[in-house]
Amino acid sequence: MMINSNLTAERATFVTHLECSMTGERYQADTLHGLSRVGRPLLVRYDLDAVKAAIPKAMIAARATDLWRWRELLPVRHTANIVSLGEIETPLIPIPRSSGSPNVLVKDEGRLPTGSFKARGLVMAVAMAKELGVTRIAMPTNGNAGAALAAYATRCGIETIVFCPDDTPEINVREIQAQGARVYRVNGLIDDCGAIVGRGVAEGRWFDFSTLKEPYRIEGKKTMGLELAVQFGWKLPDAIFYPTGGGTGLIGMWKAFDELEQLGWIGPERPRMYAVQASGCAPIVRAFEAGEEHAERWEDAATVAAGIRVPRAVGDFLILRAVRESGGKALGVGDPAILKAVDDCAKKDGLLLCPEGGATLAAYKEALRSGEVDEDERVVLFNCATGLKYPMPEANAALDRFGEIDLATL
Ligand SMILES: *Cc1c(COP(=O)(O)O)cnc(C)c1O
Repeated sequence: MMINSNLTAERATFVTHLECSMTGERYQADTLHGLSRVGRPLLVRYDLDAVKAAIPKAMIAARATDLWRWRELLPVRHTANIVSLGEIETPLIPIPRSSGSPNVLVKDEGRLPTGSFKARGLVMAVAMAKELGVTRIAMPTNGNAGAALAAYATRCGIETIVFCPDDTPEINVREIQAQGARVYRVNGLIDDCGAIVGRGVAEGRWFDFSTLKEPYRIEGKKTMGLELAVQFGWKLPDAIFYPTGGGTGLIGMWKAFDELEQLGWIGPERPRMYAVQASGCAPIVRAFEAGEEHAERWEDAATVAAGIRVPRAVGDFLILRAVRESGGKALGVGDPAILKAVDDCAKKDGLLLCPEGGATLAAYKEALRSGEVDEDERVVLFNCATGLKYPMPEANAALDRFGEIDLATL
């Protein structure tokens, strides 16, 4: 049996406190929190000077290359509370033919447990829920978050109730149930599901695991930024294209880069962050273009990319702030371009993307055409889930083995 050496050592956390992302108000660590008093996400703060003194960069580099090598930059206090399903460091895969550039790399998050990068956020949030004594969790989901929650929570005996839009991909609904959650299809969108969760919270029935409504999912997602830094030799790429729903990963990576700079492990250079949305649900793009700090709800949201069909994000201002500070943009792409990108990447480069991953490739191509990015820039696209979870084109060719088969025509 393989034992993960990063999880055998008991290491203390370096968390000092939590902080309101809007007002900066401080909150105590080691107590259960949802949103801040003004209804905004809480961010976890660390004693980075102490981290720096405790672990040289070379020591991190020498550890096994999984998510837990970053243990000192993560919030879990007791290693025993971590429920792991094997959170690997995901590979960077060139897609020269479909992208048209040798410098475009796909960070393939589909290889994580439960087949999506939701595993990063949920493994952390569930470990913290366990540490803080939570016994019942509810969550609204477009599919992958619910699946990751179900897997990790079931593994440590926490009860889960999951609500998803009734047109959520069938495989997602079934995997959530198969992994031990009670899952309900709701005739509405993800924020309508969130409203049901909120009603149960008001009655004290469960703890709310909606995106950014508990502080620790961001910490798990931030490991994408930490991994990129080490994979690029303690530098960062020139541009990152991130499929943006609730924006947890984009916000998390931006936070990771700041922490790495404070540790002295990277310099002040930052990638341009591109928040990619589907043009059928693009509240962040609309707010970005209008110069707004917050994004209004997108009505009648519709796209094949279910993971980014998020009409309203509680962390909207954090996404917009990171995109603007980085010199990036929020970009919308249509469903036909998304599906074409998925098809192109599979046919030309042999890599099957999920539709949300396809959106980043479509946005990159558009940015290349418009001169927003240069062909020789090092670009990372996020493929956030395995393409195997999504519908594929039909394949109906058949042969009658008893009849004549003209092999020359096959
Ligand atoms: C959740 C999800 C996203 C969006 O991620 P956020 O960090 O919440 O913006 C994109 N794609 C897929 C497949 C997802 O499951």
